[in-house]
Amino acid sequence: MVENLILECPFCKSKVIMVTFSPSFFQAKVSRTSSKTSTKFYKTKEKYEVQANCPNCGKSAKEIEKAFNEGVKDPEKTKKKLKELEKLGLPTIIETKM
Ligand SMILES: [Zn+2]
Repeated sequence: MVENLILECPFCKSKVIMVTFSPSFFQAKVSRTSSKTSTKFYKTKEKYEVQANCPNCGKSAKEIEKAFNEGVKDPEKTKKKLKELEKLGLPTIIETKM
C-alpha cells in the first residue's frame, strides 16, 4: 500500500513536497533446502519517494528524498544545524521566516 502525501520540505519547512510513502510491511520469503521448505517473514523498510524539486527553496528531489529517508526532519537536529549555520554567519532563510 502506497500513500501520496504532502510533507514539509526538510530544508525550508514549506509544506509543498509531494511524496510517495511506502510504509514498512512484512514480506514472506520462501527458502528451500533439500529436506524442507521454510517460510521466513521479514520487515521491509519504510520508504519515501520525492516526486519533484522543492518549488520554494529549489532543493532537488533527490536531496529531499535522502533527508526524509535518513531522518533529517527531526526538528531538534534541524534546530541544532541552524544554530551551527548561524555561528558560521551564514544567512538562514528559515530564521527570518519564523
Ligand atoms: Zn524547500
